[in-house]
This record gives sequence, C-alpha cells and structure tokens, in this order.
Amino acid sequence: MTQIIDGNEVGDRIQNELSTSIATLTDAGVTPGLATVLMSDDGASETYVSMKQRACEEIGVNGYHHEIDSDEPARSLLTQIDELNADPSVHGILVQMPVPDHVDKQTVLERIDPLKDVDGFHPENVGRLVTGNPRFKPCTPHGVQKLIAAADVDPEGKDIVVVGRSDIVGKPLANLLLQKMDGGNATVTVCHSRTKNLAEKTRNADVVVAAVGVPELIDGEMITEGTVVIDVGVNRVDADTEKGYELVGDVDFETAKDKASAITPVPGGVGPMTITMLLYNTVKAASVQEDVSVEL
Ligand code: NDP
Repeated sequence: MTQIIDGNEVGDRIQNELSTSIATLTDAGVTPGLATVLMSDDGASETYVSMKQRACEEIGVNGYHHEIDSDEPARSLLTQIDELNADPSVHGILVQMPVPDHVDKQTVLERIDPLKDVDGFHPENVGRLVTGNPRFKPCTPHGVQKLIAAADVDPEGKDIVVVGRSDIVGKPLANLLLQKMDGGNATVTVCHSRTKNLAEKTRNADVVVAAVGVPELIDGEMITEGTVVIDVGVNRVDADTEKGYELVGDVDFETAKDKASAITPVPGGVGPMTITMLLYNTVKAASVQEDVSVEL
C-alpha cells in the first residue's frame, strides 16, 4: 500500500511542538515577530503573503505586513528593510519574491540582516548551509527533509535525485541532504534542463524530489517500485473548475503512486510544510536574538 504523505498532518505536528517553544518565549516576555514585505501586484504573491500572516496569527507569532507600490524606486524597499533590521520586535524578515524588474533581487537579499533572514537566502546563510553549519534552513527544502522523515526514510546512504537546481529549492535541498548530519548523508544527484537521460537517473533513485515547474513531468514510467516521491511543484493548469484552473504538481500523481512506496499529493504535500518551516525559523530567530533557549 502506497503511503500518501500528508503535509498538513506533518505540518500540524511540527506546529504543535512550536507552540510549546512559543509559550516558553512568551513566558520570558518575548513574542516572536515576523515582518513580510510585498512589492508586487501579482495575485499569487499576495495570496502567499496573506497565508503566511494568517499562520502567524494562528500560532501566536506577531505578524507585521508592509506593502510597497511596485512602481516605487528600489530604495523604498531597501529603506523598509533597514527599518525592520533595526526594529527589535521583528525577529524575522521575509521579502516576498519576485520583486519588480527594476529592483535588483540580490541587493535586496543582501540587505536583510542575516540574523533575521528567515528565508535563508542571504549569501552568509547560504554559505553556512553549504559548509555544514546552517543557521536557517531554507523553508521549502527543510519541509521536504521533514516529509522524507515522515515516510520513515533516513537519507543516509540513499540515492536521492533532486530534479531542479533553483536557488530556493533544488540547490539548498541538495546541500541539506548531502551534509554530514542528521537528515543528510545521502548520495545526491541534481538534475536540470540540460540533464541527459533524466528517466535513467530517476529510475535508479531511492527518493525522487521534483522541483521543476513543469506539470506532471515525472510519471510512473520514470520511477521504480518502492521509490519515495516528493512533489514540490505547484502548477496552474486550465481546467473546467469554478476558477478556470486546477493545481497540479511536477509529478503525475496517478501513475507514480502505483509504483511509489510513499508520495506527496499536490496540494496538501510540500505547500503546508513551507509555511510551517517559516514559523520554525521565526521562532529560532527570536530564540537566538533574545537569548531564550527553546526546544527546536
Ligand atoms: P525554477 O523555475 O526556479 O527552477 C526550475 C528548475 O527545473 C531549473 O533548475 C530547471 O533547469 C529545471 N527544469 C526545467 N525543466 C526541466 C526539465 N524538462 N527537465 C529537468 N529539469 C528541468 O523553479 P523553482 O525551483 O522556484 O520551483 C519549482 C517548482 O516548485 C514550481 O512548480 C514552483 O511553483 C514550486 N514551488 C513550490 C513551493 C512550495 O511551497 N510548495 C515553494 C517553491 C517553489 P535549468 O536550471 O537548467 O533551467
């Protein structure tokens, strides 16, 4: 029987544990604070930010939301970040990507105080991850790591194929799984659009993680019996629904689930974990900045 890995259930369990840590902080007079900054008119970005704010409210993290018109100059965003860096009630800062074309993304990422960089994208935090000393594990890759654990798989010695090499999912995930630490020690193969014989790679994997952005690219033919399949993809495809579209992953769930030993659905797999691990990083940031130790 294929295990359907329920991201909502795993996320709720982690959030319950986080509640205890938040209570410890609150008892010490500290409420963790997360600031989100949106400089975009994109509907999906607005939805993501409001989901993050709602999750803060539900768990007892102070959420602060700032919006900057997308036609403002870059310095408006940088000034906002400077203010949040200096605000002691803000422990974590998240600038929702993408930012408009006239704003240099790298300058934005580097402006955030690395101690408040709960996305884990500041070069200092990327460097710490690569050298095996992570401060903040990037949220989606960390969520994937938790889902692999939820399938009762220890990555140590396993062949894990990550399809996708983006800076926000594929690369940091490959680094996490490679590290000489709990949840790591895997033999990692990273594939991308120039990879030859992708199916040959995925068929030889114990775990396949798809983070591609191509609807249903990985199907049952591309995996072997017993593989664990984690689907990061969220793709809108036209459909005869009220909204005119439906969400599908990078994996063809129906054919893959017949072969997989465990598989994540879309929606309800990786998505809820990303928000949970953002809360986790915010609690960690508060704990470090306020010097209150908590269980994490
Ligand atoms: P990017 O577009 O930044 O990266 C996609 C990667 O897939 C690239 O490395 C690209 O290769 C590779 N790729 C594209 N086509 C192919 C192909 N045919 N065969 C093999 N590799 C291919 O995407 P992201 O990493 O940002 O996101 C990936 C997916 O995950 C998207 O669907 C996104 O919506 C979703 N996502 C979901 C999150 C969640 O919380 N659930 C969070 C973040 C993302 P190359 O580098 O050569 O171009």
